[in-house]
Amino acid sequence: MASQSHSPAVPSLPFGRFANGPSVPFGARGRSVIMHAMRPLIIAANWKMNTTSADAGELAATIAARTEEPGVIRVICPPFVCLSAVRDALVGKGVAVGAQNVHHELAGAYTGEISAAMLDGLATWVILGHSERRRDAHETDELIGKKLARAISSGLRPILCVGELLAEREAGRAVEIVADQLRGALAGKDPEALVGAGFVIAYEPVWAIGTGRTASSADAAAMADAIRSTLAADLGWGQAAESVPILYGGSVTSANIGEFLGEPSIDGGLVGGASLKPDEMAGMVARAALVARTRAQDKGVR
Ligand code: PEP
Repeated sequence: MASQSHSPAVPSLPFGRFANGPSVPFGARGRSVIMHAMRPLIIAANWKMNTTSADAGELAATIAARTEEPGVIRVICPPFVCLSAVRDALVGKGVAVGAQNVHHELAGAYTGEISAAMLDGLATWVILGHSERRRDAHETDELIGKKLARAISSGLRPILCVGELLAEREAGRAVEIVADQLRGALAGKDPEALVGAGFVIAYEPVWAIGTGRTASSADAAAMADAIRSTLAADLGWGQAAESVPILYGGSVTSANIGEFLGEPSIDGGLVGGASLKPDEMAGMVARAALVARTRAQDKGVR
C-alpha cells in the first residue's frame, strides 16, 4: 500500500542479513555474540494530539530542512487529520510519515476509528501500543497483536511500544512486564514477516513519558538486551532478534539522546514533546548521524 519509501535517505540493508556475515536462518534458537545486525538509526517523532492541519505542514517542512543528515531514518507521526498536510510538506525530503494508531479491521462499524486502508498514500509507518493508548483506550496486548498483524499485511512499518509502570519497576518486575507485553502481542507471529516489514520496538518506561524523568542509559540498554532475549529464546526468533531496531522513548531531548545512543543495543529514539521543536529535532538527528557513522566504521561498512 505504501506509496512513500520507508527511508529514501538511508540505503536499506536486507533484513535478516547481518553486516559482514552471511544471512541467518530465522527461527534458529540462540543468540550469536559474534555476528551483529547492522541496524538502522531511527529518530521517530510522535506529535501526539498536537498541531492542526493549518500548522503541521510548515512544522514538518522546517524539521525536514533542519535534520538533513545521512544515515538516520527520520519519521514524523502527526495526528490523523494532519497526515495529508505533513505528507505534502515532506514530498522529496527523505522523511517518512507515520500514523499514531490503526484499527485492526479494514472497514466496518467502528465509529471514530481509522483503518489501514484509509492510511494508504498518507502514512508508511504506524505506532502501535503506545502507553497512552493502553491507558486511555484500554488497548490490550492481544488487540495490539491484531493491529500489528494488520499493519504488516497492509504494508505499514510498525513501531511496537512496550514499557513498565513505575510501581512495576520499583517492584523489580520491569523485565517480566515487558516480556509479557511482547509475548502477548507477538506470540504465533512469523518473525520473518515482521522483520521483513521493518518491525521496530520502542522501549518506553511509562513513568518517563512526558515527565522529564528518563531511565538511565544502562537500564534502557539492559531492557533492550532483555527484549532481544525474549524474542530470541521465548518467542523462537533466534538470530532474527538481532536485526530488530530498538528505540528508547521517555523524555528524550537533544541533551540526553547521546547517552542512549552510546549504548550499542539502542538504535534511536521515539520522541514526544521534544519532537515538536525543530532545534531539538536537529540536535537529536545530528547526534544519531554521528553514531550511525561511528557504528558503520566499527563494522567496516564504507
Ligand atoms: C512518546 O510520546 O512516546 C514519548 C516518549 O513522549 P515524551 O518524549 O514527551 O516523553
